[in-house]
Amino acid sequence: MNTKWLVETNGDPLGAIQYIFAEAWERFGLDSMVVPTNGNGSPHLLHDPMDLHRVNPFKPLMTYNAAKFLPQILDEQPEARVGALLRPCEVRALEAKSKREGISSERMLTICVDCLGTYSPEDYQWRAKRKGSPESLDGETLHFARQGGIAVYRFRSACQACRTPIGDGADINIGVIGLPVRQKILVDVPDPATAETLGVESSETTADQPFFDQREHVATRLLQRGTLTRQRLVDNLESILPRDLDALINQFERCGECRSCFEVCPLCAADYPTKDSAGLYERKQVMQWMISCAGCGMCEQACPNHLPLVTIFTNIRQQLIDPMETDLIN
Ligand code: SF4
Ligand code: SF4
Ligand code: SF4
Repeated sequence: MNTKWLVETNGDPLGAIQYIFAEAWERFGLDSMVVPTNGNGSPHLLHDPMDLHRVNPFKPLMTYNAAKFLPQILDEQPEARVGALLRPCEVRALEAKSKREGISSERMLTICVDCLGTYSPEDYQWRAKRKGSPESLDGETLHFARQGGIAVYRFRSACQACRTPIGDGADINIGVIGLPVRQKILVDVPDPATAETLGVESSETTADQPFFDQREHVATRLLQRGTLTRQRLVDNLESILPRDLDALINQFERCGECRSCFEVCPLCAADYPTKDSAGLYERKQVMQWMISCAGCGMCEQACPNHLPLVTIFTNIRQQLIDPMETDLIN
């Protein structure tokens, strides 16, 4: 069964996406949905699908990683079916968190939308003021979806170095990158049973192939750009970074009682690294944290010392993962 579906948007891509959320809410019998908020702080939990018109997955601002809050939301609603609208880095974090903490996905429906990038909160406020309103700024990113988004250097370093902004790994994945969003968006539901419940039809035709090719082309370019940017960030800062895991653990010791990066990270939310008898964070626990890092950049955003944590963690993660990949190949 074909589970990819090009949806006509009739000039209103955001409206079409909100319609898909509403369909998903009804067909999967959801009780609530975690969605990006309009403000700062905690994620917004909607209880009424009539409120879905307020949701905008393309708002270029990220102030939390929802994977941090989802287990708690599920615990607080033991009977409820909960939907979660996530960015790709939130899906990555949820996957890693689920492996570590054994979170059950039974009562959860995840929806991931291609991410078009986010500004730092300060930059977002400044740009919104310059544009006249946050709404004018929010509309801008979607306008450039076909090219893969606006100039990436404007965004947070996490977004510049993003492993992939392509919506993937969720129950329902919605694609806009590389597509003429005022005409069509992509709905990809990998599991046939889920696709059937949502009502995805076997609608792919040969006429659709150029849309898929164009999307593939833009997505490949974005992935290559992300790889080059990660390397450039590391090269530019290599002389001043904690360059390996042990140096990072020593850095955390110098940070004293500050644990802001631990507190905002979805992967440490339930499970901080602990200290050994020498007062240093346990090497194995910090290593597991770094390997699981989803690259969302919330830690960097929270660091009172403005340490370039995305670059530091990316560099260390790469050092830890490369030998693992080599082991797998051998
Ligand atoms: S890190 Fe990637 S997925 Fe996360 S907000 Fe930035 S561009 Fe989007
Ligand atoms: S360490 Fe930072 S970038 Fe990595 S998942 Fe945690 S908050 Fe996100
Ligand atoms: S947020 Fe910054 S200062 Fe605080 S512990 Fe983390 S790296 Fe250190």
